[in-house]
Amino acid sequence: MNEVYLSIGTNIGEREKNLQRAIQALMEQSAVQVTHVSSIYETAAVGYTEQADFLNIAVAVETTLIAQEILEVCQSIENELGRVREMRWGPRIIDLDILLYNQENIETENLIIPHPRMFERAFVLVPLQEIAPSNGKVHEKATHILQAFDIEQEGVTLWKKVDSIEEFMRN
Ligand code: ATP
Ligand code: CA
Ligand code: CA
Repeated sequence: MNEVYLSIGTNIGEREKNLQRAIQALMEQSAVQVTHVSSIYETAAVGYTEQADFLNIAVAVETTLIAQEILEVCQSIENELGRVREMRWGPRIIDLDILLYNQENIETENLIIPHPRMFERAFVLVPLQEIAPSNGKVHEKATHILQAFDIEQEGVTLWKKVDSIEEFMRN
């Protein structure tokens, strides 16, 4: 079984609902088992800052799918939830990125794992740190950075504490 970490973000519409719908869509995939969902964190947009604040979570899944297939699942969920691709790093209903796939380093034309910008993004690392095991089971580079990472990162605030997937999906 492959252990995969995803990052999900949204800054348009009913943001919490968008996250729930994305988790629901992942759970409906028979080859994907959602094992952990982080609390929800809020962050002001970085890069293109003239847009609404983001909600971000990290999700752990177990799957028999290969990384490329996970990417296809992520993109189909984005489409299903109505994401329209306008400007890069602009506002979006939902964005699913693959952070880690086992301990692998992958680099193809349309997929790079670990996600190339994850290590400089507090809004990715803070939720990931909440659900990633501290025993070195995640990617070596991630383990190292997560251990040294200050959770009190500026700009990332706990928006809603969540202790289980069931709680996440409630209401
Ligand atoms: P960023 O990648 O900086 O977070 P973004 O999420 O806004 O930006 P998208 O427009 O969603 O970027 O995706 C652009 C492309 O990134 C996708 O078409 C996909 O092929 C590619 N990509 C490369 N590596 C990954 C990865 N680890 N997870 C998701 N997409 C990836
Ligand atoms: Ca992204
Ligand atoms: Ca993306």
